[in-house]
Amino acid sequence: MATAKKKITSKNTKSIKASPKKTAAKKKVAVKKKAPSKKNVAKKKSATKKTIINPSDYDSFAKSFVPYKISKTEKYMNKSQQKHFINILNSWKNALDNEQEKTEKLIQQDQSNFPDSLDRASKEEEFMLELRKRERERKLISKIELSLKDIEDDLYGYCETCGVEIGIKRLEARPTATQCIDCKTVDEIKEKQQFG
Ligand SMILES: [Zn+2]
Repeated sequence: MATAKKKITSKNTKSIKASPKKTAAKKKVAVKKKAPSKKNVAKKKSATKKTIINPSDYDSFAKSFVPYKISKTEKYMNKSQQKHFINILNSWKNALDNEQEKTEKLIQQDQSNFPDSLDRASKEEEFMLELRKRERERKLISKIELSLKDIEDDLYGYCETCGVEIGIKRLEARPTATQCIDCKTVDEIKEKQQFG
């Protein structure tokens, strides 16, 4: 008898846990117009919890901004497009700066408690990974700074090799791109031939 009761109560708590959100959300939608915004907030919260944005990986970071809507009449790289990319580049850079600080702290910690640890080898490996991460972050940050400088000089968004427009879509996928996709591809093939 006792076990049966337990089972039932645990079942109940489960169903209680699972259902109120759904029914509450549904009720709100049905009753009030304000509900959708509340729902959105809840959704956003859970989304940021699930997808951890890693600024060292731009693809992951790219989820955090809204793509630019191009109107038919606007000129390529007009002020508002430039602003759009300044925002992207700056917030990416800030995220990387924060990340860099964290990495720096880890490196310092590791440096101070290196000795007489039994798992020294794995510690060293960790340390090397942190150094590499710092290096990668630094390179990205300096690329971003170059892109911001290019915007200032009205050079941003044009291929440095052939001068063609790189395009909003490609820049949103790769805000530090300095070449159009064709020149980039040619260069990559050349590189492979040289080093591969
Ligand atoms: Zn080109």
